[in-house]
Amino acid sequence: MQSNTKCIVFSDLDGTLLDHFDYSFNAALPAIATLQSNNIPIIINTSKTFAEVVDLQKNLTISAPFIVENGAAIFFPKSYTSQCPDECIEYGDYWMKTFSQPRTAWIELLKREGKAFQDQFQGFSELTNKSIANLTGLSLEDADKANQRLFNEPVLWHDTPAKAQAFIDHIRSHGANVLKGGRFIHVGDFTDKGRALNWLTNLYQSASNTAIKTIALGDGENDTAMLETAHIAVQIRSPVHSFPILDDENFIYQTREYGPKGWAEAMNFLYQDLLIQNALITERQEKKYG
Ligand SMILES: [Mg+2]
Repeated sequence: MQSNTKCIVFSDLDGTLLDHFDYSFNAALPAIATLQSNNIPIIINTSKTFAEVVDLQKNLTISAPFIVENGAAIFFPKSYTSQCPDECIEYGDYWMKTFSQPRTAWIELLKREGKAFQDQFQGFSELTNKSIANLTGLSLEDADKANQRLFNEPVLWHDTPAKAQAFIDHIRSHGANVLKGGRFIHVGDFTDKGRALNWLTNLYQSASNTAIKTIALGDGENDTAMLETAHIAVQIRSPVHSFPILDDENFIYQTREYGPKGWAEAMNFLYQDLLIQNALITERQEKKYG
């Protein structure tokens, strides 16, 4: 880990660094290059899987640790840090720190405790990549990467929403964190993006001589813990919902632009304000656009 880190940027992907509709990110590339040329790590913090992020990192030309499956684990490329960080284990070309039981634990729980509901749901692990592609609109190749989950099991519910509640309550009572998504029910551990941000920041902090400032960027409800944990929260404007409410005493910047354009807008603002002039924010300030 670098010893001269002063600032770390944590970013969500979908709707934040990637456009909500077409997944483009070109508008953010100049801002990414500026941060990188100043040795500011950009940490992807997403609900996506390890397999999905490995590819996206390459396309985004980002080389840094990243956080997957909503705070379930952090991966460090060995090319980034050759020494295994504390509490980590080896995972191919990466070091891995987990905050979650493995996916197999939830598949077994569903098999054991889902018997009374067995005709009403199917886990992703029982579906072919072709069915997942049909259900999600992803290409076959992307459906395969989305299904390479390591820490949670999405469930497709075939019955009415009212009947899903009994299923959710039952699985919850056996220790799982159950989240209702748009199309799927996610069964996994109690993880969030904020806890993983904290753990990783502490690791950087232990190698650094100065106090590290954290900036987090996100658009959705599942970014709330990450945004509330960071020193500076950037809420990226979404074309499909309003800004989630933050319970945050820190600096909040709400973008005027959507997705990657908003990402660049916020970074340009913060960069000028915080980094070039080296004027780190010490008291509560807000800049919001209506
Ligand atoms: Mg998002």
